This record gives sequence, C-alpha cells and structure tokens, in this order.
Amino acid sequence: MRIFTEDQLLIQEAAHDFAATEVADATKTGMAIYAQTGTAPFSFGLWDKAAALGYAGITVPEEYGGLGLGEVEELLVMEQLSAFNPAIATNLDGHNLATKTILHSGSEDQRERYLPHLASGEWCAAAAVTDPAGSTNFPEWTIEVTRDGDDYVINGTKHFCSNSQAAQLYAVYTKSEPGTPGPMDCFLVPAGTRGLEMGELESFGRSGTNTGTVELNDVHVPACDKIPPSNLYTANWLACGYLDFAAIMLGRAQGVFDKTLAYVKQRTRRGRPLAQLQAVAHRIANMAMQIEQVRSITFDAAQLWDAGTPNRALHSMAKIAAAEMIGDVSIQCAAMHGAAGSDPAVGIMSALQTAPGAWNGEGPNDLHRDYIADELGITLDSM
Ligand SMILES: Cc1cc2nc3c(=O)[nH]c(=O)nc-3n(C[C@H](O)[C@H](O)[C@H](O)COP(=O)(O)OP(=O)(O)OC[C@H]3O[C@@H](n4cnc5c(N)ncnc54)[C@H](O)[C@@H]3O)c2cc1C
Repeated sequence: MRIFTEDQLLIQEAAHDFAATEVADATKTGMAIYAQTGTAPFSFGLWDKAAALGYAGITVPEEYGGLGLGEVEELLVMEQLSAFNPAIATNLDGHNLATKTILHSGSEDQRERYLPHLASGEWCAAAAVTDPAGSTNFPEWTIEVTRDGDDYVINGTKHFCSNSQAAQLYAVYTKSEPGTPGPMDCFLVPAGTRGLEMGELESFGRSGTNTGTVELNDVHVPACDKIPPSNLYTANWLACGYLDFAAIMLGRAQGVFDKTLAYVKQRTRRGRPLAQLQAVAHRIANMAMQIEQVRSITFDAAQLWDAGTPNRALHSMAKIAAAEMIGDVSIQCAAMHGAAGSDPAVGIMSALQTAPGAWNGEGPNDLHRDYIADELGITLDSM
C-alpha cells in the first residue's frame, strides 16, 4: 500500500465522495437514457460539477486558473471517479491531453489565451490524434495541411476522439513532414470554426465518453494557433495520458473488486460464505495483487514525473499492466457472481466491455512494448 500525504488523502476522499454521489447518480441517469435511445450522452451537468471542484485543471499552474497540483493528485482523482463509470474520467482524460499539449508545448500567448478557459472547465477540450490510417501509423497519416497566406488549411478526419461532440476546443494533431515517422504539429481549432464538423459517435462513445469522428474540410487556422513541431507523441508529458488511463482502469477494477469481495463474503454455499472456499479466496487474493501491482507502477511513475525525473518505460508499463489487468479482473468478478454477473445492473459487464478498448486506448499495448524495448536500448523497425 502506498503512503500519501494528508493533503493527497483529503483529495482522494473528496473525489471518492463525489463519485459515490454525483457520478453514481449520473450513471443511473445515463443507463436510463441508454435503455431508451441506445446512447448515453455526454453529461454536461456532471462536467460542470467536476469542473467546480477544479478537476478540469488539476495539474495546470494556478497562474492559468488551475489547481497547480501534481500527477499524483490527478491520478488519485481519476481513479476514484472511475469506480462506478469511466465516462467522466475519460472525458477528463481527453480534455487533459489537449490542455497539456498547450501547457507543455504551446507558446506563452496560447497558454494565456486558452488555459484559463480549459482549466476552469468553462470549455471542454478534445485531443484529435487518431488518424483513419492508425493512431501511430504516422507515415501513412491521411490528414493534410497546406498554406493559404497567413493561415494553415487542414483537411482530413480524426477517429475515436473523446468529447467529439461536446468540446469547445480541438487539439488536432498533424504530421510536420507527411510520409515520415518524424515530428508532429498540433493546431488549436475552436468549435464553430467553418469546416469543422462532428461526425458519428463510435461504439465507445455511446457509453458517455462521447467518442466519435471529427471532420475537417478546408478548416483555416491562423498561424498563432499552430503549436510548433516537436515529437509530440513521444513527449514525456504526453505519456502522462498513459497514467490517466491506468488510473481509470484501476478505478474500474477496484470498483468491481470491492463489489465482488462483498458478494463472496455474503453469499453462502452450504451455510458458509463463498469467500471461505479456498479456490475463491485465492482468486480474490490474486485480484488484489494484480490491482496493487498496477497501482504501484502507476503511482511510482507519477511520483517520478512530479519529482522531475520521469521514467518513460514505467509510463508504458503502467498502461499495459492496467489494460491487461482490467480484462482478467472483470472476468473473475463476473464469474464469482455466477449468472448474476451477466446482469448489466451489477456493473461488471461494463467493466468487461472496457477490456478490448483498453488494449488500444492511449496506443496499442504492442506499441508500448516497443517503447519499453526502446528505453532498454533495443531499436525496432516499427518505431
Ligand atoms: C474509449 C476510447 C477513447 C479514445 N479517445 C481518443 C481520443 O480522445 N483521441 C484520439 O485521438 N484517440 C482516441 N482513442 C483512440 C485510441 O487512441 C486508438 O484506438 C489507439 O491509439 C489505437 O489506434 P488504432 O485504433 O488506430 O489501432 P492501430 O494503431 O491500427 O492498432 C491496431 C492493432 O495493430 C497492432 N499494432 C499496432 N501497432 C503495433 C506495433 N508497434 N507493434 C505490433 N503491433 C502493433 C496491435 O495489435 C493493435 O492492437 C480512443 C480509444 C478508445 C477505445
């Protein structure tokens, strides 16, 4: 178990209370809407309440309207918010990616113009990275950028963009040198810009994450809204997105684990709790261990980042371990509930459904293994 400061524990407790009341209520409302329409919409009400607590700008410095805290605090919040439903934490994850792009790679003018709106949650942001050719298949990205006087003109589509229909600002990633794996540019495009259109929600988007396509048809962006070329995808700060993701999976796993632990202690077989069957007790012990392993790697990576000594391999390890753990844990939890585990109202099936997306969200696990190998001095063709 990790040692947190008193302030960090207070932040964790506040996020836990928010999740147990507001997120749980919004989840019930979302499920009811989903039952009627087949879509759980972005919850603007919940977003506003999360923003009022400062969750839209946890790591943004106070001078730009954020809380000025560290990754550890951000992850403590993300984990708690995901215990009942990952939607609001996924909304914040997408928002954070765009916000941190501006914070760490933007100009001072861009930081001053955009961060106060984003850190306060007045605006929700979206990070439009994934190209139809593959999120990290950089040489084959199809998005095109040309020049027209002082403006840049963007044409293309982005897939699987969280907050796709809810955002007020889109951070659109493009290639600085098309056809190469090399550096990327990022353009800041406000909602309402001519030629910017939100497409259909994709499958994950129907769970409240609002994940869908973003279309750009002759979108003009002034030069002052271009974030200069850098290897954005492998920037250390971007790797913090992997940790947000791992924290979301931790919250999901801990949520269904807690439910299952209570269930096997209460449900009896021949007069004794299921938990007293050694096979069940061992599976419970294994799950507790798997969750704690992911928590250790994730918070170690965050603490090193906050200390100014980031370890890229740990960020990728956290992402892989979390994605693989959520599938294992949710299958075990569903099994221990017997047939009741298949009831959507129990909440385990939705954790299980997260597993295939978890493999790919924030980059495929295979790619993260490449990153770890790279950190270990092994150069691969796929990089
Ligand atoms: C819930 C959710 C929210 C998301 N939100 C956003 C968002 O806000 N913004 C955004 O831009 N994207 C978002 N995504 C998209 C996500 O980042 C991509 O799906 C992910 O990066 C994988 O890219 P891809 O789908 O193009 O798959 P591909 O890159 O085509 O990968 C498919 C498969 O190819 C194989 N593969 C790929 N690379 C390698 C490699 N190096 N070595 C070996 N095998 C490899 C793996 O088996 C992999 O699973 C989201 C996805 C989900 C599920």
